[in-house]
Amino acid sequence: MKNQSEINIGLVGHVDHGKTTLTKALSGVWTDTHSEETKRGISIRLGYADITFRKCPECEPPVCYTTATVCENCGTETELLRKVSFVDAPGHETLMATMLSGAALMDGAILVIAANEPCPQPQTKEHLMALDVIGVKDVIVVQNKIDIVSRERALESYREIKEFVRGTCAEDAPIIPVSAQQGANIDILIETIEEKIKTPEREVDKPARMYVARSFDINKPGADPEHLAGGVIGGSLVQGRFHVGDEIEIKPGIQIKKDGKQTWMSLHSEITGLVAGGQEMEEVGPGGLVGVGTLLDPALTKADSLSGSVAGEPGTLPPVRHSFTMETHLLERVVGTKEETKVEPIKTGEPLMINVGTTTTVGVVKSARADDADVVLKLPACAEEGQRIALSRRVGARWRLIGYGIIK
Ligand code: GDP
Ligand code: MG
Repeated sequence: MKNQSEINIGLVGHVDHGKTTLTKALSGVWTDTHSEETKRGISIRLGYADITFRKCPECEPPVCYTTATVCENCGTETELLRKVSFVDAPGHETLMATMLSGAALMDGAILVIAANEPCPQPQTKEHLMALDVIGVKDVIVVQNKIDIVSRERALESYREIKEFVRGTCAEDAPIIPVSAQQGANIDILIETIEEKIKTPEREVDKPARMYVARSFDINKPGADPEHLAGGVIGGSLVQGRFHVGDEIEIKPGIQIKKDGKQTWMSLHSEITGLVAGGQEMEEVGPGGLVGVGTLLDPALTKADSLSGSVAGEPGTLPPVRHSFTMETHLLERVVGTKEETKVEPIKTGEPLMINVGTTTTVGVVKSARADDADVVLKLPACAEEGQRIALSRRVGARWRLIGYGIIK
């Protein structure tokens, strides 16, 4: 599986703080190693880039760390360290649902904070809280745009960051000053990622399970119906392996009418092709984003219609839930806004945005108690007992993160 990334690392942070520029700086050249979406610049969906970290056998750290195949310092051929997928989460406040579903795929994260603005900016805080809530533990802070601030401001910004991360999952995170635009300290950042964000142990012997983040119809409009390619789903495996030829089940699947009633039916198909790191594969496992070709009617997969579903070995997927009881854990204050009002207890009758895995749905609270609540979902979710879910509440015109729940 040499073409597949081992790990997904999220790039999170406030809009314009330099996430996309950092992805470019890390990848060296912005070329064919990237997904179609990033090439076309559709950054409101999850963008991602597969990047290979390498090391020069001759040079000393940190200069030896690079993504180039030939060392820029001494000209020696470099050695492969690790393939990494970067998931570029949108930093705009209206796109928290996308950020939260992306966070479900992140094994670790880089929080990008621009040194030329006071810290924290609203989405700096909202994204860090989201990492905390979803349970992403390995975090590195990049203090970006170091090229346009004075030494005094850089130090002040460092102190603001230290103060801000106290008590969060990033409390002990390394803070790396970087200029993504000038490519400064990128070697130190790669070294830090290699040390701090290790590839997790993967349960490859368990039944395959993939969180679907995207789905596509790859046929050109007007394509000959005789030669249509089947539907494609994209996402990350959290356990197990997929092989070309495997049977797969996708849940919750599609809504159908049965005996005059609306119900959901899971989809069954066969894997006809696998793509990872831009290459056709016979087998894929956890780590990195993978594309899975199927025999499904492409009308079922077009325009991300299956994003949020779970795919895997038939009969092994978690149940499809239309409602559940959850243990609730609320934040003290609503983050992401300037005002930061107090988080009120969950109320019976209120709608909550619920992110579970890559699923985004709305749950109406049927009964709220001190530490738990019953919710009925507008769209069902395929989810396990004990799974963590992010809870957001409508505040003004936006959904704001208010805490997390655990499915009982
Ligand atoms: P994103 O919204 O977090 O993805 O931010 P972008 O990567 O799109 O960057 C926003 C703006 O900041 C762009 O105009 C970049 O050129 C600029 N920028 C990013 N990184 C740096 C940096 O290290 N130094 C300077 N001076 N500008 C930067
Ligand atoms: Mg961006």
